[in-house]
Amino acid sequence: MRSVKCFGHIRAIPGVKKIDYTHPMLPTLSHEEILRYSRHLLIPDVGLEGQRKLKAASALIVGTGGLGSPVALYLAAAGVGHIGLVDFDVVDRTNLQRQVIHGTSTVGKLKVESARNRLLDLNPDIQVDAYNQAFTSANAREIAETYDLIIDGSDNFPTRYLTNDLCVLTGKPNVYGSVYRFEGQVSVFDARSGPCYRCLFPNPPPPGLVPTCAESGVLGILPGTIGTLQATEAIKLILGIGEPLIGRLLLYNAQDMSFEFVRLRKNSDCLACGTNPTVTELIDYDQFCGVPGHAVENGSAGVEWDITPHQLNEQLTAGTQLKLVDVREPHELEISHIDGAQVIPLGELASRTSELDPTDEIVLICKAGVRSTRALHILLGVGFRKLHNLQGGLNAWAKDIDPNQPIY
Ligand SMILES: [Zn+2]
Repeated sequence: MRSVKCFGHIRAIPGVKKIDYTHPMLPTLSHEEILRYSRHLLIPDVGLEGQRKLKAASALIVGTGGLGSPVALYLAAAGVGHIGLVDFDVVDRTNLQRQVIHGTSTVGKLKVESARNRLLDLNPDIQVDAYNQAFTSANAREIAETYDLIIDGSDNFPTRYLTNDLCVLTGKPNVYGSVYRFEGQVSVFDARSGPCYRCLFPNPPPPGLVPTCAESGVLGILPGTIGTLQATEAIKLILGIGEPLIGRLLLYNAQDMSFEFVRLRKNSDCLACGTNPTVTELIDYDQFCGVPGHAVENGSAGVEWDITPHQLNEQLTAGTQLKLVDVREPHELEISHIDGAQVIPLGELASRTSELDPTDEIVLICKAGVRSTRALHILLGVGFRKLHNLQGGLNAWAKDIDPNQPIY
């Protein structure tokens, strides 16, 4: 069996206590609804009562991206009566390769509005509430208050720990999923009857160790698979059928189409759900994780280090001696590049610093300024000081200076 990505201890586990997620008062179904959900009503495990449970249920989906798209679409189609969507971004063309709830016609529009309109087109009988804001310690409790379950469709560690702690503190199940290139993970964390995310991963990884989809890429269909599994778990919880993934972590690999399960045990030392918890309120998760969770990557290393595309262009035109170092992967050079740059991929930089001269004025370059910022910190760590970060990376360069190069 492969080891689990990330870190933390995974322990063997006893059985799981069954929790009833059903609402005490079940609403009735109209004739139109009975017709719409006919294929559900035919299944004995769902039936009329199950469909009424779905109508009574409410789910908050954190993020309307790659994971949130299938989760929201299938929960809406299934007739989950009240769906909440939290996101703060607008639809971008690079989202459409995997965020199938949005469309070309909604590029530039608010993600939560784009998603809400699509869901209500799919199923006008449900209620969809949109929260166009970042999910933070300041608003999470209030937003989540009226929802039965929380589905984590986030793509960053601060939001993941926030969602976990919120669910532990408020006694709600957390349907978790995450993706990386060809691999995904799914579990249901319910601290009342099993482990939580912190039992599995007590601490976030060091900042920068786990790259985001925007930096490392993701197979577009992968969040489709993982998000659909999350939606399946949510529906099982609502219906009270089957064996939920409480106490189990599913590891999926699209390359070899493997599904593996790892047993998880509640950690009695867990700071959130253990015997002596210290996380008794939501904390500052950006600080905890050492990275901004929802700050959109602005590709800045700070004013002290940044050089804007315009500044770089002026200096190159004026003939200033600059050493350009592109820290992207070699296959990205075919997409865009600046002539004359030396290529040292970020992953090799630490072992190849001898190829660089600390007396040179070095400008670090990548796609959007995130990897180059990391490169800057690596070089600072080994004594380089004459360093600059191309703010916003080659995408900003393409936008501001060289429109012949594509943005990706
Ligand atoms: Zn825990």
